[in-house]
Amino acid sequence: MMKKRFVYADNAATTKVSNSAYNAMLPYLKDNYANPSSIYSIALDAKAAIDKARKQAADAIGALPEEIYFTSCGTESNNWAIKCGANLAAKKGKNHIITTNFEHHAVLNPCKRLEKEGFKVTYLPVNSEGLITVDQLKNAITDETGLVTIMYVNNEIGTILPIPEIAAVCKEKGILFHTDAIQAIGHIEIDVKKQNIDMLSLSGHKIFAPKGIGLLYIKKGIRLPNLLDGGGQERGLRGGTENIAYILALGQALKDISKNIKQREQKVKALRDKLLDGILSNVPKVRVNGSLTHRVCGNLNVSFEGVEGESILLLLDAYGICASSGSACTSGSLDPSHVLLAIGLPHAIAHGSLRISILDENDEEDIDYIIEVIPKIISRLRKMSPIWKS
Ligand SMILES: *Cc1c(COP(=O)(O)O)cnc(C)c1O
Repeated sequence: MMKKRFVYADNAATTKVSNSAYNAMLPYLKDNYANPSSIYSIALDAKAAIDKARKQAADAIGALPEEIYFTSCGTESNNWAIKCGANLAAKKGKNHIITTNFEHHAVLNPCKRLEKEGFKVTYLPVNSEGLITVDQLKNAITDETGLVTIMYVNNEIGTILPIPEIAAVCKEKGILFHTDAIQAIGHIEIDVKKQNIDMLSLSGHKIFAPKGIGLLYIKKGIRLPNLLDGGGQERGLRGGTENIAYILALGQALKDISKNIKQREQKVKALRDKLLDGILSNVPKVRVNGSLTHRVCGNLNVSFEGVEGESILLLLDAYGICASSGSACTSGSLDPSHVLLAIGLPHAIAHGSLRISILDENDEEDIDYIIEVIPKIISRLRKMSPIWKS
C-alpha cells in the first residue's frame, strides 16, 4: 500500500500565499497602519509602498502605473469593466455587448444583469475544443456593438483564446475590449499595449497573493465611470481606503510570476503529460475536455463515464488529494458546469468530470501518487454505479 500524502492539485480554484507575497505584507499588517492619504511620514511610506506595487503590477503586463486600479477581487474588476464599460458605450448610443458562453460567472452574471437593463448581449458559442474563432466575433459585430468581453484562459478547461487577434479586431472597429485574464497571468506573456487590450482583470489569489485583492487595468484615455463612488483613492475612480498589505502582496506576486514563464510552463507540461498518460493508460472510458494544444499546461480536465464528479472528489480527499469537479463552483446545485455543456458534453458525462490544476511546485511524486489513486477510485465507483456497464 502506498503512503498517503497531501497533494494540492486545485490551483485554478486558489493558490497558497507565497513566502515573498507574505513577507511583503507583514510590515503593513501591524507596524505601519497609517492611512496612505494622511501626510505624516509613516503615511508617506505607506503611499510609496503602494506606488511600488502599482509599478510592479504595471510592469508585469506592459502597462503604465497610472493605468492600474486596485480592487477587492477579480469579480469586482470584471463587474467594473463590464457594467461601467457598457454604460460608457451606451453614451455613444451603442448597447450591444459580445462575450462567450463559457465565461466565469463574474462575467456572465454582469452580462445577464445588463440584459435585464435593456442591453443586447451575444454569447458566442465555443466549439467542442473550448475555443472561438476571430471570424465568429467579426460576424457578431454590428453597428450597435460597444463592448466585447472575452476571457483569456478558461478556468475550468484551461483553453487559451486568441485574445491579441480578437483585440485587434475590436481596435479596428473602435469597440471597447475587456478580457478576464485571471487564469492567464503567469502562464502566458501578457503585454496590454502590444496586444491592444483596453481593460484587463486580474485576481490575487490565483497567483500566490491572498484572497480579496484584484486589479483592473484601464488604458489611459478610456473614461470608465466609477463602480464605487467614495474618497479620492485610485485616482478618484475607486473609493475606499487602500488594502495596503494585500496590494503589496499582489505587486510582489505579479513580479514573481512574470519571470521564467516559459521554463515553468515546460516543467508543468512534462508533469501534466505524465499525469494524462498515466490516467489514459490505466482507466478505460476517459474523455479529455478541451483542446490540449491551445491550453495552459497546468490544467487537466477529464470525464470518467459512469461516475459522479462529487464522489470522485470525496474519495480523492480521503487520499489527501485536493481537486475540483465539473460542478464545484455552484455548490448545492446539481447542474453540471456550463463550461462542459458549452463544449457539447452530455449531462451524464459532464457530471463525471474532474479538474486537476497543478503548478511547477508539484513534483513527480505528486503525479505518481495521483496516477496510483485515480484508477482505484474510478473502478471502485464504477462497481457501485447503476449506470456503468463494464
Ligand atoms: C477566480 C476567477 C474569477 C473571480 O476572481 P475572485 O478574485 O475570486 O473574485 C473570475 N474569473 C476567473 C476566470 C477566475 O478564475
